[in-house]
Amino acid sequence: MNFEELNLHPTLQAGITACGYQTPTPIQEQAIPTALLGRDLMGLAQTGTGKTAAFVLPLLHQLLALPRGKVQALVVAPTRELAEQIHIEIGKLGKNTGLRSVSVYGGVSKQGQLKAFRAGVEIVVACPGRLLDHLGERAVNLSQVKHLVLDEADHMFDMGFLPTIRKILQHLPKQRQTLLFSATMPAEIRRLAGEILTDPATVQVARQAPTATVAHVLYQVEQPGKAALLRDLMQQAEISSALIFTRTKHKARSLATQLSKAGHSATSLQGNLSQSQRTRAMSGFKEGRFKIMVATDIAARGIDISAISHVINYDMPDSVEAYIHRTGRTGRAASSGTAFTLAGREDGPMISRIEKSLGQPMLRKPSAG
Ligand code: AMP
Repeated sequence: MNFEELNLHPTLQAGITACGYQTPTPIQEQAIPTALLGRDLMGLAQTGTGKTAAFVLPLLHQLLALPRGKVQALVVAPTRELAEQIHIEIGKLGKNTGLRSVSVYGGVSKQGQLKAFRAGVEIVVACPGRLLDHLGERAVNLSQVKHLVLDEADHMFDMGFLPTIRKILQHLPKQRQTLLFSATMPAEIRRLAGEILTDPATVQVARQAPTATVAHVLYQVEQPGKAALLRDLMQQAEISSALIFTRTKHKARSLATQLSKAGHSATSLQGNLSQSQRTRAMSGFKEGRFKIMVATDIAARGIDISAISHVINYDMPDSVEAYIHRTGRTGRAASSGTAFTLAGREDGPMISRIEKSLGQPMLRKPSAG
């Protein structure tokens, strides 16, 4: 299938071309025609599948036919990074539409957001907390919203946002199209879907392929030996950029400091940073000023940096899905990537489950010497 067959508005075709997208991804192929019919949708897909364009394109297409100057669409996302990314994708895909979007999240001044509301926007992309603040202050009016997207609903649940989302929903008309995206379907999301979706179509893409372009390498090493092994690994010349995962934010920070002291350009992304520190860390890594980013799963949610050569599991992920999600950040598109996992004896059962999901054993390498 190609994009023309989706019968999107011609002005969107220009945006698609500008983004360099040639063929729709499977989630786009499935979701776009259904969403264009105005139907509610339950989308089971992870980051990396092209899910953002899967809802942004039908959203823009439908908004082209609606009056301007009112908020007609609301996208709710769990993190500032994800909200910002969606806002940017709307800007790129919608560059010729004249539709206006604003990203709304906490940790930054309200002024810019208020200014955008006053100037008039058709699309609000928001994190729940700050949006509810604005609603409480009557700074934004959602009574005309025709399209609602909840992105990464399972992460919003993990982060305790469901009560806030339920409050936000009270400000929206009942008559609307709702698209709900989630990578997993815990009972709470199933319940939420039951409450807010009407006769939804379900689209699902297979779990993000543990792609053939990623080499999965396992180092068996106990905790005390990890720091030395990591330093050895970082000496390897072919590591051009590495995303390292730790279990805690404290460890993310201390590991980045250790690596910096050892002469590597390293930064960390963890929950305690101010918004400007996060932005600086992110753009520094994206633009190559930092070769290494150390992050926790939560902090790394939704960040989209495509040219990562290595993903390093310094601490084991706590689920197979988290492993696939972490390692899916390397080996994107045509480039190949490598995932190193540092695992101790106690991690044996998790390694077996991951290998089962990969359909092949990881490549075991000796950790010393
Ligand atoms: P997402 O799952 O929305 O985070 O998208 C993952 C990555 O795939 C992003 O870098 C997108 O720019 C990219 N992408 C989305 N749709 C396409 C497409 N049809 N062709 C190529 N790349 C795409």
